[in-house]
Amino acid sequence: MGIINFAAGPAALPAKVIQRIHKNSHNWQGSGSSIMEISHRSPQYLRLHRQLQKRLRRLLKIPKSHKLLLLSGGARAQFSAVPLNIGTFSPSLSPTTSSNNIPALYIISGYWSNMAAKMAQPLVKVVPMLYDLDSTGVERLMLISDNKEEMMKAIEIKQAWQLASNILSKYTGKASYMHCCLNETVDGLRMPQLPATDGIPLVADISSCIAAYPLDFSKMDLAYACAQKNLGIAGLTLVSINSTLLEIEAAEETPHVLSYQRQAAADSLLNTPTTFAVYVCDLMCEWIEEQGGIAKLAKINQRKAAAIYEQIDTSNGFYINTLSKFRSLTNVVFMLSSRKLEKKFVDEATASGLLNLRGHSIDGGIRVSIYNAISENEVMKLCDFMKRFKMNYLKSKLRLPSKHYSRANAV
Ligand code: PMP
Repeated sequence: MGIINFAAGPAALPAKVIQRIHKNSHNWQGSGSSIMEISHRSPQYLRLHRQLQKRLRRLLKIPKSHKLLLLSGGARAQFSAVPLNIGTFSPSLSPTTSSNNIPALYIISGYWSNMAAKMAQPLVKVVPMLYDLDSTGVERLMLISDNKEEMMKAIEIKQAWQLASNILSKYTGKASYMHCCLNETVDGLRMPQLPATDGIPLVADISSCIAAYPLDFSKMDLAYACAQKNLGIAGLTLVSINSTLLEIEAAEETPHVLSYQRQAAADSLLNTPTTFAVYVCDLMCEWIEEQGGIAKLAKINQRKAAAIYEQIDTSNGFYINTLSKFRSLTNVVFMLSSRKLEKKFVDEATASGLLNLRGHSIDGGIRVSIYNAISENEVMKLCDFMKRFKMNYLKSKLRLPSKHYSRANAV
C-alpha cells in the first residue's frame, strides 16, 4: 500500500527529490563525501550556497532592492529577530527612546501570528489588530481591545469602519513595522491580499505559503519562512529583507546570529549554515523549476484545495469548516461532529495509507496539508476516502433499530 503524507511540516518531499538525495549521498559532486560531511567553507558548498540564493531569487521573484538571507533557528527565531532588529526604529522618535515604547502593529489572524505577537511583547510595544475585507473588497483594520464586549459591539455597529480609516494615520511615522501571517497553518486561514500599510514597513510570516503561489516580495519589506513545508526540510529559514531596513541599528542585546546586519555582511555564513537543509532546498527549487515554476504549481494547488473544500461543502454538515472566506490553499482544516468520530476518521484514514491528518494539538479536528509535493491525484484519493467514510457512517446509522434512530443524529 502506498502512503500519502499530509503532514503540516516537516512535510512530504517529492519522490524525485528523495531519489536525488539517495543518489548523491556517498559522493556529492565528485567530492568523495556526502554533502553532510563537507565544510561550509569548501568551494563546493559555497557554490551551492550561491546557487540556491540565485534560484530562490529567480523562482520567488525577489527584487534587487532586497537581500536574501539563509538562516537557521526556524520561523520562531524570527519572532524575536524581527523586533530586535527593526523594532528599535521609529522615524518620529529619538534614537535614545527605548524600543519597548515603540509601537509595532501585529495583525492577529490565528495561532502563529498570535505567537509572533507574544514573543515580541517584551521587546516592542505590540499593538494587536484585526483585519477584514468587507463584501466590496475594502480593507478594514481594527484595534483589538482588552474588553471583548466592547470590541464585539464595535464590530456590530461598524465602528470598525472608522477605526480602519484612522488607524494607520495614527501610527504612520510612529510604528516601526506591521506584522502579519499570510497563511495560518493551524487555523487554515489565508490573508487574501497584503494589507495596505500607509508606508509602515510590512513584515510577513510566509512559512506555510512560500512557493505555493506567487507572492509580491517587492511589497513585503521583510518576509520570512521556515523551509520544512514547501521548500525542503527543517533547519533552514529564509529571510528576504529590504536593504533600507538593514540600515537600522539592532537592539544592543541582539545575538549575533540573529542580527540581519551581521548575517547580511557575512553572506549568511556567520555561523555554520544548515548545509544539508540548504542542499535539499536547492533540490526542491530545481524540482519546482521542472514543474514549470510557482505560477503553474499555484493552479494545481488551487484545484487541490477546491476539491477538498467541495467535499466539505457538499457533505450536508458532516464535515465542518466554519470559514466562509479566507480559506487556506495549503492547510485545509475541518471538524466532524465529535472527537470520537474524528478519531475514527484519522484511524481509518491511516489504515488506508492517508497519514498525518490529525489537527494541531491546540485545536483538534482534521488538518490536511497539501503543499507542493502532494499531487492532485493524491488529493483525489483523500476525497474518495472522505466520500466513503461519510457514506459508511450514514449507512451504519441507518442499520440501527428504528427506536435508536433520531433525526438529530442524521448528519
Ligand atoms: N509560522 C508559521 C506560519 C508556521 O506554520 C510555523 C510552523 N508550523 C512557524 C511559524 C514556526 O516555525 P518553526 O517551527 O520552524 O520555528
